[in-house]
Amino acid sequence: MTERPNSLHASDIAHSMHPYTNMRAHEEKGPMIITKGDGVRVHDDQGKEYIEALAGLWSVAVGFSETRLADAAYEQLKRLPYYHSFAHKAHEPSIRLAEKLAEMAPEGMNRVFFTNSGSEANDTVVKMAWFLNNGLGRPEKKKFLARNKGYHGITIASGSLTGLPGNHKDFDLPAIPVTHLTCPHYWRWGENGESEAQFTARLLKELEDTIEREGPETIAAFIGEPVMGAGGVMLPPEGYWPGVEAICRKHDILLVSDEVINGFGRLGTTWGCQKMGFTPDILVTSKQLTSSYMPLAAIIVNDRVYDAIADNTAKLGTFGHGFTGSGHPVACAVGLENLAIIEERDLMGNAARLEEVFQSGLRSFADHPLVGEVRGTGLIAGLELAKNRETKESFAPAGSMAPRVVAACADEGLIVRAVYETVALCPPLIVTEADVAEIHARLGRALDRVLAEVK
Ligand code: PLP
Repeated sequence: MTERPNSLHASDIAHSMHPYTNMRAHEEKGPMIITKGDGVRVHDDQGKEYIEALAGLWSVAVGFSETRLADAAYEQLKRLPYYHSFAHKAHEPSIRLAEKLAEMAPEGMNRVFFTNSGSEANDTVVKMAWFLNNGLGRPEKKKFLARNKGYHGITIASGSLTGLPGNHKDFDLPAIPVTHLTCPHYWRWGENGESEAQFTARLLKELEDTIEREGPETIAAFIGEPVMGAGGVMLPPEGYWPGVEAICRKHDILLVSDEVINGFGRLGTTWGCQKMGFTPDILVTSKQLTSSYMPLAAIIVNDRVYDAIADNTAKLGTFGHGFTGSGHPVACAVGLENLAIIEERDLMGNAARLEEVFQSGLRSFADHPLVGEVRGTGLIAGLELAKNRETKESFAPAGSMAPRVVAACADEGLIVRAVYETVALCPPLIVTEADVAEIHARLGRALDRVLAEVK
């Protein structure tokens, strides 16, 4: 018999394979074990307290100790712990949540399909687009357009839509027909002397040229996050999204807004597409939908998309797609309670009200010697680190500095995330002005500590 590891720490090293982790480094370093949540704060197994300024994985809107969500889950577990929605079956929590999402969604988006994760949702979107175009008798209209640095998940199709090399290398992705267009981030990808308006025009021309080259009859959909999250918190240039929408409409290309991070007030508006000025055909949500207390994602489609899919199910006899956990009653009950809390406490309004103090405090680091650019909107932000702000030269080796700052933040009692050269922040929507001041103070001390080490 093998010896049992004598601590959680040792057991984790012995048995767990962690996502997004260098597993060999983990064998040396071991886990940071989080044991308890309390509002915007979490505690580790050493008793240290942190402000969780990434809301877990950009997701815990209502904080880490909301007992109403625990009660909603428990009540549902007692009443009906599981049922499905295959083949005309239904249950109240998923009916009510679909109704609620249709009420919240932009005009004309009335139908909802549930999955367990954002990745599954985007996989489903790909399959919906293919199913719909086959049904409409245009089987060649299958390709997707996405963007470099976009993040849409990690399954075979959603990972193909993701535009990050780390999600493709050695996974043999992309595995579906997808073209990744230029990342719409002016500071990094704008050319020398190019104005922001010229940058927008160049990106829109690239989109038009790509459609012309590939043939509009071969392109099913364009997918993007209104504001990019996991690729490094990047805001599009002025006029970008309305321009993309107009081009998609002209060529009958479906527009998919991936709001897995942006949705439910992250940008200070209900949906990211509202803030960015466009209306999608398909809107994908997850994360803040349940504050990640339960796994759940939802795809909301407009009537045109629904009708085309529904007609094809009538032709074929079914929609041959769905997950055992699609619309899980416990997840939906938690989602409904979570959205009720977001509304009752006006947490989306809180994000809008705190935007200025949150963003301006971060912008005060724009002159810090480690910082290249500070960017953000609502309650999401990124500090891109750079060796030289003028030339935008990054620190070497690539991607090494943000993890150092993130480690220094953890020492200061602040959890943030390194995405390539960017330190990302995305605190729970319940954050207060005092918490925001504390986030700024801890981040500032961490930046100064790292600066003192590298000087
Ligand atoms: N889409 C976006 C915009 C995301 O940020 C994420 C996750 O971070 C996903 C999709 C994938 O969601 P999941 O991790 O639940 O599969």
